[in-house]
Amino acid sequence: MRLGIDLGGTKIEIIALSDDGAALLRRRVATPHNDYRQTLHAIAGLVRDAEAELGQAVSTGIGTPGALSRATGRLKNSNSVALNGQPILQDLGTLLQREVRISNDANCFALSEATDGAAAGAPVVFGVILGTGVGGGIVVNGHILTGPNAIAGEWGHNPLPWPEARELPGPACYCGKHGCIETFLSGPGMMRQHQLETGATLASAEIVQRAEQGDPACESSLQTYEHRLARSLAHVINILDPDVIVLGGGMSNIERLYTAVPALWGNWVFSDRVDTRLVKNRHGDSSGVRGAAWL
Ligand SMILES: [Zn+2]
Repeated sequence: MRLGIDLGGTKIEIIALSDDGAALLRRRVATPHNDYRQTLHAIAGLVRDAEAELGQAVSTGIGTPGALSRATGRLKNSNSVALNGQPILQDLGTLLQREVRISNDANCFALSEATDGAAAGAPVVFGVILGTGVGGGIVVNGHILTGPNAIAGEWGHNPLPWPEARELPGPACYCGKHGCIETFLSGPGMMRQHQLETGATLASAEIVQRAEQGDPACESSLQTYEHRLARSLAHVINILDPDVIVLGGGMSNIERLYTAVPALWGNWVFSDRVDTRLVKNRHGDSSGVRGAAWL
C-alpha cells in the first residue's frame, strides 16, 4: 500500500493506493493560504488520519508545484510562493518521522500515466500538463528522470520554437522572459491570443466549443493553438524521441488535438516518419496524486 499527496495551490489531496493501483481512501482539504507552517501541519494531519483508518504506517510520496533544489534541499519555482525556499522534504520527514519522497506535479503526472495510465508499458514517456500553467515530466523505464538541476522535462519556459513574426517577442511571462511556451499553450494563453487576434474575451473552453460549432474566428484560434503545440512537441521529439506523449490539464480535453497535432508535427521532426503516440491521460485530475503515491 502507498500514500500519495498532491499539494496544490487551492487544495491538498491524499490517496491510498493498493499495489494494483486501486484507490482505498481519498480525501482533500483546502490549502492554508500562504502559510508554510500551517500547510505542513495540514499534510501531516491528512497522513495521520489516513494511517489511523488504514491501521498501518504507509510509504508516502508528495507531489508539489516547483522543484526541490538538489544543492540546497529547498523548494524552488513553485507558484505557491509561500513554499519557495523552504526545506519542505526535511520538515515533513521530521514531522512524520519517516522518509518522504517528493517530486513536482508534472513529474507525478507523467509517472502516474506511465505506471498504469495511458502510457503504461511505454519505455520513454513525456508527460505534459496544459492547464493554467504548462509543465512537463519525463519517465524512463518507470522512473522519473530528475537531473542534477531537478529541471528535466520542464519545457514550459523554453521559447516557442520556429516562431512566426507575429509571435515575436511574444507575451511577457512571470518568469521574466517573453514568448515562453506557457504563454501560448496554457488556457489563459489561448484566451489572450484569441483576444489579441479578435478583440473578443472568451475562456479557452468557450473558444473550443465555438470552433466546434463553426465559428471561423474561434476555429482560427484553435488551429493556431494546434500549430504551436505541434511545433513545441516536435522540438521535444527531436531531443528525447519519446514513445508516448501524454497530455493532462484542462486543455487535454480538446479531443481533436490527438489527431490534428500528430498530423502537423512531422513538419518539424527531423525524421522521415514519426511513430511517437500522442494520447490523452487516463487518470484525469487524479494523475498527480496517484503519481505521488508511486514515487
Ligand atoms: Zn516563462
